[in-house]
Amino acid sequence: MRVKKGIPVSPGISIANAMIIGEEDLRVRRRFVPPSRVDDEVRRFDRAIRAAIEDISEEISRFGEELKIPVQVLESHRDMICDPTLRRGIVDRIRTEGNSAEYAVTVVLRDYYERFASIESEYIAERVHDLEEVEKKILRNLLGRTEAKGERIRGTAVIIAHNLSPAQTASIDKEKIQGFAIDVGGRTSHTAIIARAMQIPAVVGLEDISQEVAEAELVIVDGYTGKVIIDPDPATLEVYQKKAYHSAEFFRHLHEEVRWPAETLDGYEIYLAANIEFPEEVETALDWGARGVGLYRTEFLYEDGEPDEKKHFEAYCMAVAALKQRVLVIRTLDAGADKFHSESVGTHEPNPFLGCRSIRLCLLREDLFRSQIRAVLRVSALGPVKLMLPMVSSLDEIRRARAIIRDVRAELESEGVEMAERVPVGIMVEVPSIALMSEQVAREVDFFSIGTNDLVQYCLAVDRVNERVAHLYQPAHPAILRLLKYVIEAGHNAGIQVSICGEMCSEPMYTVLLLGLGLRSFSVSPISLPTVKRILRQLTMSGAIDVASQCLACDEAEESQAILQKRVRNLLPDFF
Ligand code: PEP
Ligand code: MG
Repeated sequence: MRVKKGIPVSPGISIANAMIIGEEDLRVRRRFVPPSRVDDEVRRFDRAIRAAIEDISEEISRFGEELKIPVQVLESHRDMICDPTLRRGIVDRIRTEGNSAEYAVTVVLRDYYERFASIESEYIAERVHDLEEVEKKILRNLLGRTEAKGERIRGTAVIIAHNLSPAQTASIDKEKIQGFAIDVGGRTSHTAIIARAMQIPAVVGLEDISQEVAEAELVIVDGYTGKVIIDPDPATLEVYQKKAYHSAEFFRHLHEEVRWPAETLDGYEIYLAANIEFPEEVETALDWGARGVGLYRTEFLYEDGEPDEKKHFEAYCMAVAALKQRVLVIRTLDAGADKFHSESVGTHEPNPFLGCRSIRLCLLREDLFRSQIRAVLRVSALGPVKLMLPMVSSLDEIRRARAIIRDVRAELESEGVEMAERVPVGIMVEVPSIALMSEQVAREVDFFSIGTNDLVQYCLAVDRVNERVAHLYQPAHPAILRLLKYVIEAGHNAGIQVSICGEMCSEPMYTVLLLGLGLRSFSVSPISLPTVKRILRQLTMSGAIDVASQCLACDEAEESQAILQKRVRNLLPDFF
């Protein structure tokens, strides 16, 4: 038995034989063409580009229509292939150096990889994988190869791979694939996003699992903890078989409860919304019982460079249409650090988490901000939307952002554009300085949404993505609990809505605490909706307030954690 630990990106337990999807051998020899054949070679390259675009279009329709999963990754590959700078570089190489088309493709793309390799960023690492996909797609067409897909699966299987292309992921049979265990990637890699959308357990970032597992070996994927167990011993297998059974049963029962109201035993109604990253996720969120979207992270719109107003507008329209008059909270660009980078963010900042990111970048690059605000205000004519500003650390930032929003509204009015009369503007409370200013700030914004992912990071000075300090990342730390209480009370005293959208509220353990601290509005990852609701429905307000005051009286995170764990085990016995 061997155990590997990676990043859990899609919950659930799967136990099945390994099916290894290997790397394709698309090695290219150094080959030259005589000057008389250069034009033919350029034509051959253009044919391969057209064929690759057709391949992607086919995949997009299969992804979107049949599998109903996000197609942005594929669209970004198509955009990369259509990029005139890339084509120019390759054609120049064929014409000036006499390289064969395939050799020119590899040389030009190697140059891109080298440039990207010098940049330390999860986002850029993911884009390198995308570029590798693009290279493979063009080379396959030049070399007359077809892509290996998942057709050879007999029975059920866990997919083991170094990385999966979107086409490989799309070609899998949802009934047969039980799980994913992948060497590379993080929470935003395409396998992670697709696995979540398909509700298949997945662990990524396992480094070398594809080298460690033999074809057909028995594998357990634990999408809750990130553990992957290869060739489990009988005792471990038995434990996980029970866990897998309970987990499947648990989700089946939960699904039956999705239309039940989210209210406590003593009749307090709680607003449960979902966090999304793509408009296509709205459907899954509604399917799991969301009453709206409490956080739409718009960073993915910037993946292929700065989006124009049209791109923003189309994405927001899609989400608004799917929500059918339920509320959509659109968060403005939250770039930098662990998220999307651009040249303007300054990828070489010495301390990117504290750098020119999010609202800071938007205030610096007003053009970038204005095109997003224009699209949000325009879409407000079609359905209820709210605007949310991330990473604010001072009142001055809020005032400046609101002045721009007012100015954009005036501009649209002068153009005769239809908009909702009022689009509420709120902030993410995720920087300690603004949390401590909650009383003053609450007078100037329409709502708070507490972003505990960053609030914990900035308050405890613990990098949220560094596994070496992960043990210090404690949402139940007494300082965090005091801060939460203060923010919630300040917001309520000022009469504004206080919501929470950090991962803390997706974790069943914290539901009772957050309710007891005064929260009545939660925005959680879609798959966590029914679990959080199941807990809420078993609580009374007075009981939750009692648990929260016990936790507030604790001196250490471990003590509160013990109280909360005990409580949640009683509330969700079939989950543990
Ligand atoms: C947060 O910081 O809690 C949050 C919800 O935003 P993100 O995870 O996108 O930073
Ligand atoms: Mg945040």
